[in-house]
Amino acid sequence: MISTPMPWIRQLEQFVAPGSLTKGRNYFRSGAVEIHKASADRVEATVKGGGRYWVVLDLDVDLQAVVASCTCPHYDDGNLCKHIWASLEAAEAEGQLSQIAEMDHATILTKIEYSEDDDEFDQLGELDEEDDDFGYRRHRTSTHQHRGPQDRRK
Ligand SMILES: [Zn+2]
Repeated sequence: MISTPMPWIRQLEQFVAPGSLTKGRNYFRSGAVEIHKASADRVEATVKGGGRYWVVLDLDVDLQAVVASCTCPHYDDGNLCKHIWASLEAAEAEGQLSQIAEMDHATILTKIEYSEDDDEFDQLGELDEEDDDFGYRRHRTSTHQHRGPQDRRK
């Protein structure tokens, strides 16, 4: 067989800043990640390093996305942080989040972006000024299907 599918973790690297990738990988390799709950579509982990941060990785199969959140300040600024990447590496190493393999074009986004996208879905085709609360709109470069937000999990 010549064609091996690209491991999903490699596919997601393009969405994360190189610095976060490197530091996250180091965190993972030094054993800083502790996975508390894991399944085919969700992982909850803590990452130690300067503090102890909670990371949640949630799959949205319809959207073909990993929705990630962390409790650190860097994430609060809207970034996919090193803790998120460290947790992804740990999940991949344990064979968790296996549903990602079913996605053709898996992407990863912060829960902050994910929530904003939901607002856009609610208002398809019409502009609504309510989004001004966010100050700006973020647009992802990746394509995604327009599905309703009704199957969003918490
Ligand atoms: Zn973080």
